Amino acid sequence: MARLWNFSAGPAVLPQEVLTQVQGEMLDWHGSGMSVMEMSHRGREFTGIIEQAEADLRTLLSVPDNYRILFMQGGALAENALIPLNLLGKKTAADYVVTGSWSAKSAQEAGKYCTVNLAASSQTDGYTSVPALQSWQLSDDPAYLFICTNETIGGVEYGFTPDMATLGHPDLPIVADMSSHILSRPVDVSKYGLIFGGAQKNIGPAGLTLVIVRDDLLGYARRECPSAFDFRIVADNGSMYNTPPTFAIYVAGLVFQWIKRQGGLAAMEQMNVRKARTLYQAIDDSAGFYRNPVELHSRSRMNVPFLLADETLYDMFLAEAKQAGLVSLKGHKSVGGLRASIYNAMPEEGVKVLVEFMQQFARVRG
Ligand SMILES: *Cc1c(COP(=O)(O)O)cnc(C)c1O
Repeated sequence: MARLWNFSAGPAVLPQEVLTQVQGEMLDWHGSGMSVMEMSHRGREFTGIIEQAEADLRTLLSVPDNYRILFMQGGALAENALIPLNLLGKKTAADYVVTGSWSAKSAQEAGKYCTVNLAASSQTDGYTSVPALQSWQLSDDPAYLFICTNETIGGVEYGFTPDMATLGHPDLPIVADMSSHILSRPVDVSKYGLIFGGAQKNIGPAGLTLVIVRDDLLGYARRECPSAFDFRIVADNGSMYNTPPTFAIYVAGLVFQWIKRQGGLAAMEQMNVRKARTLYQAIDDSAGFYRNPVELHSRSRMNVPFLLADETLYDMFLAEAKQAGLVSLKGHKSVGGLRASIYNAMPEEGVKVLVEFMQQFARVRG
């Protein structure tokens, strides 16, 4: 059986090496006589697994000692509520930069809990850019500034880390939804108050949500915040206040080790730059047959949306791509068009096969 080239935005492709390893360890993990799925989360074996996963993630992202790593559930969308519930404290407002569907959703959800100030938005250009930092307008006393550093649907990625000092708020914590590009490149964690992401894009199976939070931001959860989602309680209990998603944590841990074997995040970034360059070049060199709507400096390395000049060809493109073993290329239903998600686990070979297919399709139908 041949595996397909899977360009899904999430749940997404995982490294084949990791899947094979999981398969090999499925019935008997390291002589334990059982699958990781069947183990007590408090037993010695699983404790080792989660501690190793945390240590590897810390190494990969160079997470400073004053940051806690939480393995949670609920996905990024739950975080949209849990962040205001945990971080507002006595404050009543938070600032949001809206650059696409996901940050728009985040801002809307936060509106249930506080006053939301729209610090900047690229809605007027159809969410095809990140507004220049100089144009951001922060409110007087926000609890935090929220950004989504890679908009999975629009294919818009931050090419910079916002520097709050230049905006006159040096101590304002930045909260970043990095669901769809975490671990695709090195990040200076110390520039953020909190980083979060659902695992199913670039980390591992669905069901696990990562939160990396500076420890001075813990302990401010509102009374009505569910205890199982109070960052302080989750941190104090080593992500085991309630049963964590053990199997997803185990697979994520294997992915962290796989990334280390690739050479870490600097090496991942180089590979991701090459893949993105290859694909954007094919789009840009197609004489308008294909088109990417995103402003040049805000193009995502992970999610590449593209349109066909001839709208009648979409079904044919998807059908022929599928025949060629290339799947999940349909754009998100809210924006239409096509989209190739080329996460860490998509090999360069897969992008090459896609580009050759696109060029052939354009030659025949152009
Ligand atoms: C996929 C995605 C989400 C939603 O994640 P869930 O795990 O389904 O809640 C939120 N933000 C971004 C940037 C995403 O890519």
